[in-house]
Amino acid sequence: MSPLTVSNLAKRYRRGGKTLAAVDDVTFHIEPGETLALAGPSGSGKSTIARLVLRLIEPDAGRIEFEGDDLLALNGAALRVRRARLQMVFQDPLAALNPRATVARVLDDPLRIHGIASRSDRPHRIAALLERVGLSSALAGRAIHEISGGQRQRVAIARAIATKPSLIVLDEAVSALDVSVRGQILQLLLDLQREESLAYLFISHDLGVIRAVSHRVVILDAGKIVESGDARAVIDAPQSAVGKALVAAAPRLNRQTE
Ligand code: ADP
Ligand code: MG
Repeated sequence: MSPLTVSNLAKRYRRGGKTLAAVDDVTFHIEPGETLALAGPSGSGKSTIARLVLRLIEPDAGRIEFEGDDLLALNGAALRVRRARLQMVFQDPLAALNPRATVARVLDDPLRIHGIASRSDRPHRIAALLERVGLSSALAGRAIHEISGGQRQRVAIARAIATKPSLIVLDEAVSALDVSVRGQILQLLLDLQREESLAYLFISHDLGVIRAVSHRVVILDAGKIVESGDARAVIDAPQSAVGKALVAAAPRLNRQTE
């Protein structure tokens, strides 16, 4: 079963007297264990799609199926149960996590809220999660604001996998990291995907990163899908004007393919 199927999704914003179609008739699906990337210029609707899928905002039209259920029809307890299987990692972990909370607290919350482990069991689970993401359990007592950006993003990933999701939405999750740290986090995401059959909705403006980690890519422009297909095939030979422009503007990618 597909973790995610999005059909004819639309979201409009009113700006002054005009209506802006932030997301316009978007349809795609993600297979179990697959990475589907969303690419496109700034303002093309990538983050709006992420927020719609996470139900942080409501669409004007369309359907979102998560693990076979109509996500938009779920409420209350049924939505909470499903939410555990649908997680997220954003660009800025200092904004997404409470900077004053300890690492242990950040990881304890999902285990407690979703009833995944008993109080006495949780410290072991937290240590195991830290190990899974390549962090020392000695970090458990440190505050989020005291650790490095790369360590923080590892904690955000540990929190996301704590509830055993089938899908993680990653919106520019590696964009703020130094190149070497970025490579380590991408490798961690690949390792976790292989071990857990995790699917990713991987949003990035960086085609080089997308080419390295994604199975398929969807290219957006002004809220519409302009091109989609196998990530390497599309990025190596884009057909749409927007796809060609994105590839031309990706210097790192050009060097790799020369
Ligand atoms: P991307 O993530 O691809 O850069 P976004 O999804 O953030 O693009 O934005 C898509 C379009 O929707 C942009 O034109 C943006 O200005 C507009 N937009 C996004 N959120 C809002 C909002 N809350 N109110 C008004 N316009 C918005
Ligand atoms: Mg965005």
